[in-house]
Amino acid sequence: WSRLTSGMRRTSTALSDRVTGLFTKRKLDATTLEDLEDALIQADFGLDTAMRVSEAVGKGRYEKGISPDEVRAILAAEVERALEPVAQPLAIDEARKPFVILTVGVNGAGKTTTLGKLASKLRAEGRTVMLAAGDTFRAAAIDQLKVWGARTGTPVVSGAQGADAAGLAFDALKQAEGAGTDVLLIDTAGRLQNKVGLMAELEKIVRVLRKQDPEAPHATLLVLDATVGQNALSQVELFSQAAPISGLVMTKLDGTARGGILVALAAKFGLPVHFIGVGEGVEDLEPFAARDFARAIAG
Ligand code: GDP
Repeated sequence: WSRLTSGMRRTSTALSDRVTGLFTKRKLDATTLEDLEDALIQADFGLDTAMRVSEAVGKGRYEKGISPDEVRAILAAEVERALEPVAQPLAIDEARKPFVILTVGVNGAGKTTTLGKLASKLRAEGRTVMLAAGDTFRAAAIDQLKVWGARTGTPVVSGAQGADAAGLAFDALKQAEGAGTDVLLIDTAGRLQNKVGLMAELEKIVRVLRKQDPEAPHATLLVLDATVGQNALSQVELFSQAAPISGLVMTKLDGTARGGILVALAAKFGLPVHFIGVGEGVEDLEPFAARDFARAIAG
């Protein structure tokens, strides 16, 4: 909880300052409510949520006004209500061995880091884990995953740079099966510069995994960087066309004042949100909890 509140400070401080500025001296009128909407849109909550919050704030209070704390409480309640349905833990089906988790997302979104953190979490829960360096396009990505493997004591299946990613994923699944591994985490490339190639590669990885296990991947996580704001919406649309996205991980909530994007994503897609990243360290991956997030963001 403290990691979450300190991580979310940039979004919550920006919002909280605006709310304090808007509601401390000024009387509650249509202009104030519009300014509140603008503040929420700037924090990437999206128009619908911004309007719903301002309506809730304005409702019947024109006469007596409203304090900044009351506004924050209304905001927190609206955010919690919007996020409650999508806050779902990542369920690992023990009957699937290995339980195959594919991670997708644009370069730099935080896929590799998230996989390292996740490997550590799963191992701490007593599971055996294997990592597959499926971003074969960048040597640095392979090396980075190996570093995370060493740091978390997790074996890493990797090939040479430029190797076929689907072939590597297939080999990794075979190895994980052979070793009786509980969870296989597969990294992928995310070069948006070549969208057609990217989509074809992801489709091929899924196809090849299914040759070995018709149910695989058992989870496909789209990793999104909160700092890109509204752009995250189009990334969901794009990746949904190439892979069976089953849930989201939102990273870098600590580095942005745009944390409201999670609310906009929930409203638009309703995809489960499993984890949020609030820093670069191995511990900085939090299971997503709507109430905690709502309280942290509203300040
Ligand atoms: P990938 O290209 O998607 O695999 O992205 P990386 O895992 O390499 O991450 C890109 C950069 O973002 C790295 O410098 C990470 O340390 C950083 N990063 C990843 N997740 C977080 C997070 O939750 N918070 C912060 N502040 N940085 C993060």
